[in-house]
Amino acid sequence: MFDTLTLAALPPEDEALRPQIQALIASHVAGLPADRRARSWQGFDAAFSRALGQAGFLGLTLPRAYGGQERGPFARFVVVEELLSAGAPVAAHWIADRQSAPLILGYGTEEQRRAYIPRICRGEALFCIGMSEPGSGSDLASVRTRAERTNKGWRVNGQKIWTTNAMHSDYMIALLRTSGTPEDRHAGLSQLIIDLKAPGVVVRPIVDLTGDAHFAEVFFDNVELPVEALIGGEGEGWKQVTAELAFERSGPERIYSSVVLLDAWIRHLQAVGRRDAGVLTGRFMAEIATLRAMSIACTARLALGESPVVEASIVKDRGTTFEQDLPVAIGDDLAAHPDELVSDELYRTLLYVTHIAPSFSLRGGTREILRGIIARGMGLR
Ligand SMILES: Cc1cc2nc3c(=O)[nH]c(=O)nc-3n(C[C@H](O)[C@H](O)[C@H](O)COP(=O)(O)OP(=O)(O)OC[C@H]3O[C@@H](n4cnc5c(N)ncnc54)[C@H](O)[C@@H]3O)c2cc1C
Repeated sequence: MFDTLTLAALPPEDEALRPQIQALIASHVAGLPADRRARSWQGFDAAFSRALGQAGFLGLTLPRAYGGQERGPFARFVVVEELLSAGAPVAAHWIADRQSAPLILGYGTEEQRRAYIPRICRGEALFCIGMSEPGSGSDLASVRTRAERTNKGWRVNGQKIWTTNAMHSDYMIALLRTSGTPEDRHAGLSQLIIDLKAPGVVVRPIVDLTGDAHFAEVFFDNVELPVEALIGGEGEGWKQVTAELAFERSGPERIYSSVVLLDAWIRHLQAVGRRDAGVLTGRFMAEIATLRAMSIACTARLALGESPVVEASIVKDRGTTFEQDLPVAIGDDLAAHPDELVSDELYRTLLYVTHIAPSFSLRGGTREILRGIIARGMGLR
């Protein structure tokens, strides 16, 4: 049982990327208040993403033939860790770099690879993920939105929901039913690349609890797509999506969502000269160190070309629990010291992270679903 997540270290040549990426981030986030930086995942800054692409920090896992850096998942781990711990705005390139490009590389045709991957590596082609629908979130196999085969290609009708950044994206990789009925479950699902500028596509942003609108509803009304919109095999969508979710669930993004708040709180402790928070800070550091080691172990599996679906689910489940505990513990700590002056910036950051935290264990797969996957991996289901 204990050989599944064998501990691994980051190779020195990838560690060596840190000073460069830190300098680029510093030049962009300098002066941004903590509550803005805490929006890292939601922070949309296309110019920053293009600057990352120009400096060679996108497409780190992708072949040079398609504009990538061919450095592998450990290099990406280092870069993502730096971006998130500084609270840099990653939304513009996030999904394309993490999921869409590896998916297109793995399952796409040569034409699709050449058409999309170099632009993703330059931070120029922005993607969103169209999996969830009203009534099909956890139960993705029940997807109803349909792509019908026509003489010229595909005709899409239906609706997606909770699509992060659909309003800013150029393309959606959508999980659609290309044959059969929702009762057929996994069979008949395929992935298609949808140009979001195509006639018949309507994107309607949804405002979340924090007042930001970073995800959207997307409607398709007789949207015509070319034959080449199909990515991978027809009817292979379920298998492809499962592999894609392992990229989404294993990385440092499942540890650092609240880390800007942690940093702001530690600065507060320093500013007010408080020395009684050792147990709490020690607990946070122990949790971060353990989760980070687990995430690096998952990265090592990705580096071997494996798809660590169960291990990634463990990292996401434990990681999001930590990310959600953090604002509660920091809020309790500040409340227990009512005489301390808390800066507006720390207060706004705490409010934002407290409001957004419930989404951490929903986005990318809910806690209950992950625990089901883990139980199956342990032979308990
Ligand atoms: C911030 C954010 C960004 C998102 N971005 C995207 C995106 O870009 N693209 C996209 O496609 N989706 C996106 N989502 C949607 C997300 O993936 C879904 O919300 C998630 O998969 C849950 O689906 P649901 O909302 O339909 O909830 P439901 O599936 O209705 O679940 C409701 C509750 O029931 C539980 N539950 C459901 N089935 C079971 C079961 N079999 N056993 C035990 N418990 C169960 C769930 O765990 C959950 O607690 C995003 C969501 C959030 C919050």
